[in-house]
Amino acid sequence: MNSNSDFVWDVCVIGKGLLGSAAARHLSEMGLRVLLLGPDEPSKRSEHSGVFGSHYDSGRITRIIDTDLYCSKIAEASISRYRDIEESSGIDFYQAVGHLAVSPVKAYVDEVTNTARQLDVGFKSLSSSELAYTFPYFSFPNGVSGVYEHSTGGYVNPRNLIKAQSEMVLNAKNEILTETVSKIEKIKDFFEVLTESGKKVRSSQVLVACGVFSEGVIPGGEKLDLEICESTVLLAELTEKNAVQLQQMPSLVFRHNSEIEKGVYLLPPIRYPDQKIYIKIGHSESRPMLDPATNLTNWFQSDGDRVLADWLESQLLDLLPDVSFSNMKTESCAVSRSSTGRQFIDVIDESGIHVLLAGNGYSAKSSDELGRIAAHKIISGEVPDEYSDIDFTVKYKRM
Ligand SMILES: Cc1cc2nc3c(=O)[nH]c(=O)nc-3n(C[C@H](O)[C@H](O)[C@H](O)COP(=O)(O)OP(=O)(O)OC[C@H]3O[C@@H](n4cnc5c(N)ncnc54)[C@H](O)[C@@H]3O)c2cc1C
Repeated sequence: MNSNSDFVWDVCVIGKGLLGSAAARHLSEMGLRVLLLGPDEPSKRSEHSGVFGSHYDSGRITRIIDTDLYCSKIAEASISRYRDIEESSGIDFYQAVGHLAVSPVKAYVDEVTNTARQLDVGFKSLSSSELAYTFPYFSFPNGVSGVYEHSTGGYVNPRNLIKAQSEMVLNAKNEILTETVSKIEKIKDFFEVLTESGKKVRSSQVLVACGVFSEGVIPGGEKLDLEICESTVLLAELTEKNAVQLQQMPSLVFRHNSEIEKGVYLLPPIRYPDQKIYIKIGHSESRPMLDPATNLTNWFQSDGDRVLADWLESQLLDLLPDVSFSNMKTESCAVSRSSTGRQFIDVIDESGIHVLLAGNGYSAKSSDELGRIAAHKIISGEVPDEYSDIDFTVKYKRM
């Protein structure tokens, strides 16, 4: 950390998560003096009463195929840089094991296929019988079809992706401060960022990327039009032998024809920091949290929603009927959703603070491109030419 208290950084990026670390790296590569500021993952979630991140995991699905062309494009741009980031940082985070989208809803499969065609993604359309032949361990109901993104799909390890981006920030002679921010103040022509331990940081620009805790650090009266939603995941432990049998398993999105939770997603066997191997299953659509200001911390300290966890377990056993699991555990997480379905990459008029918000539940895979867009906005006042500023405008709740 720079010892001169009068030192003014070009940009202080607050939030050392997926989006903040990506933005800090792009700003560093663009030649700015950057401080990346945020706490590490708590050692015991149930006992931690501070802020949390939505990246405390070892697997996030990555795929270009989507029903929304914008989502496909930002994923494609990010995926195209994964290997370079791994090489430059020396940290691996990408497993290109393939991604499979399956559904009985024809319109859904058609939309996914259309975006794949438009972007020239390497994919294969699979009928019900082709799915059964290619992925014999999966059991899908009759009448489904699938899209298999064989070369670019798979998963990323979000913890390692953040480590890789952070390493590149340090390689560019910039710095990381492991602290939680309590306040941002505008003083003359710079910002003063205060941390919970009493440190003060001065910076010409500030970028807030604190995920679901962002509202807590942005000064001002207006409430951002963001919805905080709760997610529950089930981690099902596999024996080493079973994991070997499922070595070729792709990541999966299984979209239901009912609107309930919109279906489930599955990660293939992954070795977690406790050295055990788990298959993770989660629900695609997250439910809005009641009164996040009161409940968010308690939610992150908890094991999630028991009823949803039971439903996830039954979904898992239906999808992988021949696999036996030695143990199951659940975890909680949260995402923030914007009313626009796009990220907020903008400047707050009242304070002049830049924001990179609203992961919308799909931003781990696309975090590198979102970080690049935010870095461009800070440096030039506009998002890159291939995007439009109006799509990323911050919206406020009507009181
Ligand atoms: C269960 C679950 C499954 C998901 N699965 C996928 C998936 O398969 N594929 C995919 O692409 N996306 C997925 N996502 C979404 C993805 O994880 C999020 O979009 C992503 O984490 C958002 O990144 P972020 O940087 O905005 O927030 P985060 O990753 O949460 O990072 C925010 C950071 O800000 C820090 N912070 C908070 N407050 C402060 C403060 N006051 N001072 C300093 N730092 C602070 C936090 O500690 C944290 O490190 C999933 C999300 C969840 C919850």
